[in-house]
Amino acid sequence: MGGIKLLSLSCVLAASLFIAVTGAVPGVAPTSAQQAAGCVESGPALSPREGRGPGIALGAALAALQDDLAAHVFAAPRLEVRVVDEPQMQARAILGTPVIEVTSALEAHPWTADELYAILAHEAFHQVLHAGPRCGITPARMQAQELEADHQALDLMAKSGRDPRSLGRVLALFAKGDGSSNASDAPTHPEFSVRIDALAKHAIQADRSSH
Ligand SMILES: [Zn+2]
Repeated sequence: MGGIKLLSLSCVLAASLFIAVTGAVPGVAPTSAQQAAGCVESGPALSPREGRGPGIALGAALAALQDDLAAHVFAAPRLEVRVVDEPQMQARAILGTPVIEVTSALEAHPWTADELYAILAHEAFHQVLHAGPRCGITPARMQAQELEADHQALDLMAKSGRDPRSLGRVLALFAKGDGSSNASDAPTHPEFSVRIDALAKHAIQADRSSH
């Protein structure tokens, strides 16, 4: 019973791959249910925007990811991708909903299939990790969950026969600042260099434990 109730009370916040939660998207006032649950300090609540459906490449990445999540992840979320018109490359999990919001700029970039998959997989694990209320969550905890979403995405890619280095390549591109906002002004997000280092360490550990 708990699951449904928790979800209905959960703060609807974006956890984004590339940008701070706060101020990234116009916020809406918290509902009285969220205030009652002590969520007001958690930043602006977000609801998914209408957007449009994904194009062929993004849709294919989503379909593949959905299959792999169903095969490998307990209580895998059912995901929906919406593309919104924005000039910066970003992807965001709209927590408390099945929606991953992808900007038109991100969709237009010439990613490989595995890179697109890696982007969506990272966001999908935000949905998995945040499947309850996030009220009062600290920036430090958000940062830890950011790394955890990276690690889980990498593990899923390895299990599913995809190139796990794709996620590292995506992070490296954003670390260069191509079209992305600077992660250093994002208190909930570690620096890209920190994420890349952590990802490399995690890949080495995963490789060792598989032998
Ligand atoms: Zn993230």
